[in-house]
Amino acid sequence: MKLVFATNNLNKLAEVQKMLPNSIELLSLKDINCFDEIEETATTLDGNAKIKADYITQKFGYNCFADDTGLEVESLDNKPGVYSARYAGEPSNSENNMQKLISELENKTNRKAQFRTSVCLNLNGKQFLFNGICKGEILSKKQGEKGFGYDPIFKPQGFDNSFAEMSSEEKNKISHRGIAIKELVDFLSNYKS
Ligand code: IMP
Repeated sequence: MKLVFATNNLNKLAEVQKMLPNSIELLSLKDINCFDEIEETATTLDGNAKIKADYITQKFGYNCFADDTGLEVESLDNKPGVYSARYAGEPSNSENNMQKLISELENKTNRKAQFRTSVCLNLNGKQFLFNGICKGEILSKKQGEKGFGYDPIFKPQGFDNSFAEMSSEEKNKISHRGIAIKELVDFLSNYKS
């Protein structure tokens, strides 16, 4: 079975392909000649994942899954959430986003936060949603050089290091995206059409 992962990130694609049974062949957006800018206009992560998966299924006719991730900070009423990529405004800039978050939390004692990933799968006319959460806290200054986005200021619960101080293997085992994708892979591995 061919299945589109609505992403242009080939690292993400290879990572997920390795976890899937050989009977499932993953295709990227480039593989299906989709170069469209799919606008993420929903106000929830589930909504944005659904927009992306539905766009591909409706326009290209493929079974497809898409993901969307946000950082939810407890003392900021779960902001930036679905707006995490553009928290400090457009164009999206991780350095500015982190500085904005650090200053918003300057006088707050509650630094609890979580990353949440939604995955929406369209499969043979049915839709399925998967979620992954990684709880942790926001550090008052950056630690580490690896990863991307908010990684240098996010310390997962039960660990001494930030995401940016972990290898990608270590991070994937406990991360929001790793957990959501594992749920998807388990579902697909047991799926009987
Ligand atoms: P996306 O839905 O994967 O594009 O994620 C939206 C935004 O959330 C990104 O632009 C990053 O700022 C942030 N983000 C998503 N996943 C991570 C992560 O694993 N670490 C740090 N930041 C992330």
